[in-house]
Amino acid sequence: MKLAVVGAGIAGLTAAFRLQQAGHQVEVFEAQAAAGGRMASRSVDGFQLDLGVHMLLDNYDRTRALLDELGLADQWFVIEAGEGGVLRDHQLLSFSPKRAFDVLRFAGIDLGGRIRLFIELARARRWRDDLDFFDLSVGDDELDQENCEHFSRRRMGDEATNYVVDSFIRTFHFHGAGKMSMKYFEALAALLVTRGEFVPCALRGHMGVLPDALAARLQVRYATPVTAVVGTQNGAELRWRDGQAHYDAIVVASTAGAARGLLQAPSPAQADLLAHATSSSTIVCSFAVPVEIAGDFEGIWVPFTESEIICALSNETCKGSSDGARCVFSVFLHEEAAGRWLQRADQEITNSVAQELGRLFPRYAEHLDPLFVQRWPQALPVYGVGQVTRVKAFWERGQGERNVWLCGDYLNHPWVEGAVRCGEKVAARIAAMHPSTP
Ligand SMILES: Cc1cc2nc3c(=O)[nH]c(=O)nc-3n(C[C@H](O)[C@H](O)[C@H](O)COP(=O)(O)OP(=O)(O)OC[C@H]3O[C@@H](n4cnc5c(N)ncnc54)[C@H](O)[C@@H]3O)c2cc1C
Repeated sequence: MKLAVVGAGIAGLTAAFRLQQAGHQVEVFEAQAAAGGRMASRSVDGFQLDLGVHMLLDNYDRTRALLDELGLADQWFVIEAGEGGVLRDHQLLSFSPKRAFDVLRFAGIDLGGRIRLFIELARARRWRDDLDFFDLSVGDDELDQENCEHFSRRRMGDEATNYVVDSFIRTFHFHGAGKMSMKYFEALAALLVTRGEFVPCALRGHMGVLPDALAARLQVRYATPVTAVVGTQNGAELRWRDGQAHYDAIVVASTAGAARGLLQAPSPAQADLLAHATSSSTIVCSFAVPVEIAGDFEGIWVPFTESEIICALSNETCKGSSDGARCVFSVFLHEEAAGRWLQRADQEITNSVAQELGRLFPRYAEHLDPLFVQRWPQALPVYGVGQVTRVKAFWERGQGERNVWLCGDYLNHPWVEGAVRCGEKVAARIAAMHPSTP
């Protein structure tokens, strides 16, 4: 089969790689000049910066398998330096929850909140074999009926909600818990209590090494934004600014927002899915900071009650982003602020972020040297109430219609591990329908 993949993010590259391995002829189209999408890295002022993905977990099994296959196993390491913490009343309170039990030790919330949070996490043990955080389609749809914030306030109270549940979701998704389905929370809790630990890991050459290695093994057309994908019963057509071509099937591995604009004749199921898919936005600002004032922490969650601008801060020294004299701080914005600031000039953004950082952490004021601003209008999919069930139904009815396959983290496959698994799932389904003839 002759196949095209739109998007050289980790999901599209994984799908393309697996399809090529299955004997198909695959061509990848990427709008940007480089591969990686939200998993890209870039060199700025002598520092390697991760523009999107900042951290992996040791239970990213398929991601690790891919690294092994590509001869990159030695790139993987566990982030050991530094501490994690939550900001409360200008104080950094130590919090690196690796297992459910750790929440009992968190001094940032009252004891009642800690106990209720622990009980909820422990109860997730019952979902051990029924939920899969990296594939939210697995398991009971009844869990997809309440949003995480309602559930959390009702069962765990305001302290645990504001300083742990909402804060966690904002750190990793940039939007509040009110937009997240309970199924996500239960699957995450099940992952925590049954798969052992939440152990942050990274890649020595920074995140871009994985997509770059995949892209090097594929035929990729860079700086070629696809303008239209037209599915038919006899294959599908792909158009870009100065060309078009016919393929047996096309995998659209962009964000849902971009796919919505690309599909010219979507099936009703594809149109319905994409019409309901939403995402959060964020802006990542990177600063160089003198090491002597940087402090020894790895990541800070900033609850919305503490700042309506900054949701998280990470010291990239633990990933090697330091030249001995300076290190890199990456600052992530809540979607509320990012949504308002996406159109602002870089300098205006870094000035406002530096001012807010100075308010929250006075010791850093005057020491923040702006390095880079990365805007993500579609940063993370919203795994919202109802959408999780809709996506699950799409996998059963709608996926691959008119020879167009949708692929990406928004298809109930959170984070890098989810995106890898989604790419593999799409490739396996295509390969099963069209076994290649040697
Ligand atoms: C700031 C931030 C921090 C994150 N942190 C983490 C983290 O720490 N750990 C983690 O596991 N995950 C993290 N994630 C989530 C993770 O980045 C995503 O889940 C994953 O990278 C999604 O991959 P994807 O291939 O589905 O999409 P993408 O990476 O978005 O890939 C889509 C690709 O399609 C291309 N494209 C779009 N339109 C077109 C077109 N018309 N023609 C051709 N190409 C097109 C894009 O340029 C892009 O390369 C983070 C995301 C962000 C934004």
